[in-house]
Amino acid sequence: MNTMDTLAEVAAQVKVCEKCALHFSRKNAVPGEGPADSEIMFIGEGPGFYENEQGRPFVGQAGKFLEELLAEVNLKREQVFITNVVKCRPPGNRDPLPEELTACNGYLERQIEAIDPCIIVTLGRYSMAKFMPFARISEVHGRATWVNGRLIVPMYHPAAALHQPSLKTTVVQDFKKLPAAIEQARKDGHKKADQEAPDTRQEPKPPEDTSQQLSLF
Ligand code: SF4
Repeated sequence: MNTMDTLAEVAAQVKVCEKCALHFSRKNAVPGEGPADSEIMFIGEGPGFYENEQGRPFVGQAGKFLEELLAEVNLKREQVFITNVVKCRPPGNRDPLPEELTACNGYLERQIEAIDPCIIVTLGRYSMAKFMPFARISEVHGRATWVNGRLIVPMYHPAAALHQPSLKTTVVQDFKKLPAAIEQARKDGHKKADQEAPDTRQEPKPPEDTSQQLSLF
C-alpha cells in the first residue's frame, strides 16, 4: 500500500472509530491533513471546537497563529502534515486521558510510518511526551533532539502562546530556529539515533500545568 492509500485508510478508520470514549461526544473526528510526502509533520494535542465542527486540524485561532508562524519561516500549511495525538475532541477541551492517548496512538504511528517525515514538530506537552516522556517543555522547547533516528522539535502549543503573551514571544523565537533544524534533518536524514536525548535516568515528571492550552478552541 502506498503512502496516500495508507493515509486515506487511516482517515477512513478514524472517522468511524469507537476505540475510546471520545467518540461519544465528537461531531467530526479529525484525522489530520497534508501532503503524503511531507518532510515536516506537526503534531498537536487534540481537536478543539472549530476542528470538531469542520473535521480539520488547526482551523481555530491557534490554527491561524500556526499559519502565521509558518509564514515567518517561509512555509505554508499546505506543505506540512498536521495532526494530533488524539483525533477526537476531548469534551470542554480538557486534557486527553491516558487511555485515550493509548487508544489513538496506533493511528498516529501509522501516519508517521507512512509519511516518514525527516522532522517532527510537537505542539504541546502531550505530543512532546510521546517522543520525550521524561522532558519538561519549559526546559526543552525549541531544541531539536534526535529520537530513534528522527529529529524532534518540541514547541509550546500555539493556543497556550495566544493565552499567555510571554509564551508568544518564546514560540515565535522557537519557530525561527526551525529552518536550521530542517536543514539539519535533511542533511543527516534518519541516520542519527538519540543524540541529545533527554536524560532517561530521571524519574518521569508530571506534565506542567498548561491547562489553558486548549482553551481557545
Ligand atoms: S480519539 Fe482516537 S481512539 Fe478515540 S474514538 Fe477518536 S479516533 Fe478513536
